[in-house]
Amino acid sequence: MSPRGAGYAALDEKLAAFDARVRARYPASLQCSKGCAMCCHQHLSVVGAEFLCIAQAVRGLPVEARAALRERVEAGRDDPRCVLLDDAGLCRVYEARPTICRSHGLPVRVDGARDVCPLNFAGDGPGLDEVAEDCVLDLEHVDSVVGLVDRLAGGDPLARVDLFDGVAAVLAELDPGPIGEESG
Ligand code: SF4
Repeated sequence: MSPRGAGYAALDEKLAAFDARVRARYPASLQCSKGCAMCCHQHLSVVGAEFLCIAQAVRGLPVEARAALRERVEAGRDDPRCVLLDDAGLCRVYEARPTICRSHGLPVRVDGARDVCPLNFAGDGPGLDEVAEDCVLDLEHVDSVVGLVDRLAGGDPLARVDLFDGVAAVLAELDPGPIGEESG
C-alpha cells in the first residue's frame, strides 16, 4: 500500500496513467530519468494530508538519511533545491512525494498557457505547441482535485505547509536540539 494512503490512490493512479500515455505517445521527447532533478530546484508548499504522508516518510528514514536531511536543513533555504532532494539528485521520500511532483517533466497548462521542462520537447521531434491536447495536464484542474482528495483524507486544503519548514519541524520533533547550532 502506498504511503499516500487510500485517499490519494486513485489520483496517483490517474497521474501515473497520464504519464505513461505521454511517454508512449512521445517516447523520444521526454528526457526525464532517475537523477535528473531540475524540477526539484524549488521550494514547495503542500496541502495538509500530503504533508502528513511526507512527515511519516521522514520519520521512517534510516538514521544516516535522517542525519543527512538534518544537514540539508541546516544549510538553509537559500539553497534553491527542495529540502527533500538528496545529493544524488533523488527524492528522499519518493513514494510519498506530493501530487505536483508527480507531474514533473510533463507538458502542463498553467494560467492558460502551456509549459514544460526546457529539457523536454526540445529536440527534433514535436515541439510543445504540437503536443496533443490530451497529453497536456491542466494544473488548475489537478489542484482542484487535490483540494477535494485532501479534504477526504482529513486535511485542511487551505492550510498549506511550507515543505522546508514542515520538514525542519519534524526533524526537531525527532531529534530535539537546535538546528543550525552545535549541541553539547
Ligand atoms: S518532494 Fe521530492 S520530488 Fe518533490 S520537489 Fe522535493 S525532492 Fe523533488
